[in-house]
Amino acid sequence: MSSIDRDLTAEPPVLIIGGGLAGLACAAGLALHQVPAVILESRPRLGGRASSFQDRATTEWVDNCQHVAMGCCTNFRHFCRITEIEDQFQAAETLYFVGDHGRIHRFAANPGPAPLHLAMAFAGLGYLTWADKLALARGLSALARQTQFDDRQSFAEWLAAHKQPSHVIERFWHVVLVSALSESLDRISVPHARKVLVDGFLRHRDAWKVSIPRTPLEEVFGTQVRRWLETRGVQIHTLTAAESIQLRDEEVAGIQLRDGTTRTAADYVLAVPWHCVPRLLPEEWRKQSPFEELSQLESAPISSVHLWFDRPVMPLPHAVFTQGLVQWVFQRSDPQESGASESSCYYQVVISASREVVATETEVIQQRVLDELANVWPAVRSAKLLAARQVTEHRAVFSVTPGVESLRPRQQSPWPNLQLAGDYTQTGWPATIEGAVRSGFLAAENVLKRRGRDVSLIQPDLPTSWLSRWLYAL
Ligand SMILES: Cc1cc2nc3c(=O)[nH]c(=O)nc-3n(C[C@H](O)[C@H](O)[C@H](O)COP(=O)(O)OP(=O)(O)OC[C@H]3O[C@@H](n4cnc5c(N)ncnc54)[C@H](O)[C@@H]3O)c2cc1C
Repeated sequence: MSSIDRDLTAEPPVLIIGGGLAGLACAAGLALHQVPAVILESRPRLGGRASSFQDRATTEWVDNCQHVAMGCCTNFRHFCRITEIEDQFQAAETLYFVGDHGRIHRFAANPGPAPLHLAMAFAGLGYLTWADKLALARGLSALARQTQFDDRQSFAEWLAAHKQPSHVIERFWHVVLVSALSESLDRISVPHARKVLVDGFLRHRDAWKVSIPRTPLEEVFGTQVRRWLETRGVQIHTLTAAESIQLRDEEVAGIQLRDGTTRTAADYVLAVPWHCVPRLLPEEWRKQSPFEELSQLESAPISSVHLWFDRPVMPLPHAVFTQGLVQWVFQRSDPQESGASESSCYYQVVISASREVVATETEVIQQRVLDELANVWPAVRSAKLLAARQVTEHRAVFSVTPGVESLRPRQQSPWPNLQLAGDYTQTGWPATIEGAVRSGFLAAENVLKRRGRDVSLIQPDLPTSWLSRWLYAL
């Protein structure tokens, strides 16, 4: 009997509040095991922080920000496989780094096991001297071998303690970590920095590869994942906001909605961002663990600058800037497909940990971005800018500050029939779509366990290469 044939009304439903990646992954995990779920999402669309909006000027679907996932995101890849959206992503086999004087450095893997697979790629980063590269290799090795951490030490302090030259900090550590974790180095914990570098670059030869969506996130999550879930009996209600959680006899008895009605279920999953959790709770619980800690989670902004030109200006699919304001730029429309000169060419610039952008006027930021792009591709100056838009998500991610792990709650809440899901819960991952999916799978596993089914939805990490195990004792 297929999952669709089975009578879903036989099993009590699970009410999931929040239709971001955590809520969607939880529903998908439950659907795989024929447990019916209902998703309540306050916004008109699914996807949460990984979603799109329709731009008024161009009528194009615009992602709130370009999202990418690395090869080491095994649970996000599994989610894509089960919801049949794998073909919506393309893995970049080459990264393009912008070095000094606008010179482009190709970063691609050579044959051999990790970590040697990137030896040629690092060797080719001409804006680092050989002395820089040696210092970097020493730093990476020390980080990979470290297993004990001082909870109060920031990664900036760690780099100073390990005598990393300022040029290497600025052009490598800052470039990789600020875009991966969206925080400045003085606000990043050592274990989180280690996770990015070890899991992303040192363990497995495919881990560093960046997967980029081919279509707007609205098409990926809002349309295709939605269709997959609905086909399997998941009910989805957008524009439906939860107002408060009602408790009775040490259990959740129902969810009061903003329209005054109450929804009840056998199990509940609260998949809203950390800063939305406290106001849904009964007053007396806001000051109790694990909820009190949520008020100490800090957040960081991410900004994107969307640019539409009358012709192609950048001959690459993307580029990583190693200095300046721009961090990544992505080509979002295919000039071949769109007929280049007749229709617009759309590019998206991403600036993580964008506190400077938040504090500066939009026009000033836009001009700086255009100047930095034009210094690399002079075509930016001669092309006509048809439209521009700047988007900042002020609470894009929770900050992975030193000691942050002690603030993150488990998925099992103090009430047996309520699970917490969201990138902020204990997953071992920073705020990423991988972390969100993991939390959704973990919450679904807990629900299934309560129903007597001991199943594992969580996927293993990529295996560590024999050489990395030997070199770094990983
Ligand atoms: C600009 C930006 C760029 C990013 N780039 C990347 C990237 O490149 N790679 C990566 O891995 N990660 C990236 N992230 C992080 C990633 O988007 C998040 O970690 C992930 O999407 C979080 O998913 P979530 O389900 O935990 O939370 P959310 O996506 O925030 O979902 C929570 C949902 O709950 C809903 N909700 C809130 N309150 C209520 C209520 N009362 N009732 C009903 N529904 C409610 C919200 O509307 C939302 O849809 C980025 C984030 C941002 C903002």
